[in-house]
Amino acid sequence: MPDHARSDRRRLTRALGCAAAGAAGAAYLPAVVSLGQWLPVTSAAGVCRWRGSAARPEIGITFDDGPHPEATPAVLDRLDQLGIRATFFPLASMAERHPELVAEVVRRGHVVGTHGYRHGHHLLHGPGWVRRDLDAAGRVMADLGLAPRWYRPAYGQVTAATLAVARSRGWETVLWSAWGREWATADPAAVARRIVKRLAPGAVVLLHDSDRFGPPGMWRTALAALERVGDAMGGRSLAGVTLDELAR
Ligand SMILES: [Zn+2]
Repeated sequence: MPDHARSDRRRLTRALGCAAAGAAGAAYLPAVVSLGQWLPVTSAAGVCRWRGSAARPEIGITFDDGPHPEATPAVLDRLDQLGIRATFFPLASMAERHPELVAEVVRRGHVVGTHGYRHGHHLLHGPGWVRRDLDAAGRVMADLGLAPRWYRPAYGQVTAATLAVARSRGWETVLWSAWGREWATADPAAVARRIVKRLAPGAVVLLHDSDRFGPPGMWRTALAALERVGDAMGGRSLAGVTLDELAR
């Protein structure tokens, strides 16, 4: 783990206190999301989604942290082969370096949301930082000719400022109901198993078309897991659709 990430994690641990620190530290991911998977707190308030309707046999697969010059084209090709439409949450600071990759995602029929600009921990920053980050992301997306509907906060960390700023921009905050945790293992079978366990209609799946915030080559694990998840979806007659379609 890079030094800055280690330091962020220590600060996050302090910010969350002892009870949440175990969950957040162990997974290097937020307690907010860990809780969110079981407690429909934010969903009940109607401010944040992490799954779609279970009424149709559809799954929303999502990719965070791109675009990545190797990973994103490989993921796009695999999605085409599997007949899946997905939703991408590019980091704006990467999107401005690789605008052609974002354009290609759109050209292939997928939906592009936003993952913010700098991938900071919202639990460690004040409302001003959150607003500046989302404003910067909004400017990049506008420069690319895109007006995102969906916003996924980095690390799934949702604060009152996250929700307020996203809503003021007209973005719907969305988390996920199934993750592969491909940053924690290089075994695509293990990643796929974790996702397939939660592969119910309406599920929103988190994967990454990048290894920017995980171990080198993490995206290859995600790509191989995607193949297995696609097979499982086919076996259960579950269609892979965009979040726009999932939210119909
Ligand atoms: Zn991310």
